[in-house]
Amino acid sequence: MTRVPADMATPANILAVEDEESIREMLTFSLERQGHTVIAVPNVAAARKVLSDNRIDVALVDWMLPGGSGLEFVRSLRSGEGTRDMPIIMITARVEEDDVTAGLDAGADDYVTKPFSPKELNSRIKALLRRSRDSQTSDSTLSVGLLRINTSTHRAHAVKTSGNPHPLELGHTEFKLLRFFMENPERVYSRSQLLDHVWGSGTFIEERTVDVHILRLRKILKPAEADKMLETVRGAGYRLTVKGLPQITS
Ligand code: CA
Repeated sequence: MTRVPADMATPANILAVEDEESIREMLTFSLERQGHTVIAVPNVAAARKVLSDNRIDVALVDWMLPGGSGLEFVRSLRSGEGTRDMPIIMITARVEEDDVTAGLDAGADDYVTKPFSPKELNSRIKALLRRSRDSQTSDSTLSVGLLRINTSTHRAHAVKTSGNPHPLELGHTEFKLLRFFMENPERVYSRSQLLDHVWGSGTFIEERTVDVHILRLRKILKPAEADKMLETVRGAGYRLTVKGLPQITS
């Protein structure tokens, strides 16, 4: 029997992909106690079947899975039409910084390291759901300076000085980062503030990871001369600005 706490704020349909039976049972038990519905499967093939038959709000994906790594699965979810925006938490036994970065690069929104507490996992799920529900209700098109992004389609382009659009091929993290800057132009954010806002508070990622993604983003913006919009503010952090932009001729 499932006990539903009175203060349960965000019941969700959760897909858990985990080959260890004891962890599947623990996840199902603890998350259902929080009022969520959990479908726990042992491999990627079963997960795909669940996704085609159910509306899933959050996916928990183990890193090491039989028949295909969790990392590849996350990547495929990010490129899939119906699963592109799905909040994803990776479950990992790997604590190396590079591994965590690889997980987030593949498109995971957050991760927990085994052994993790069900309570911690639940609070991360709640935070992710809050963010994803917020983003679904906000405007779908943002425009700052030369940059345009559509938050529904995840497409972005820059308007070149000639007036022609230049499509921006953004990775998942770069998209989230650019979106955050475009929602908050002209304001300076420190690396730790960016980690909180873009990666989510409670993520344990080194601040230099932010620099890596800023560099990537600038590289993507450079062909459209929009990289200068993303300023480094010495000793403070980063800012998206429209000051000093070239004039658009048409
Ligand atoms: Ca495993």
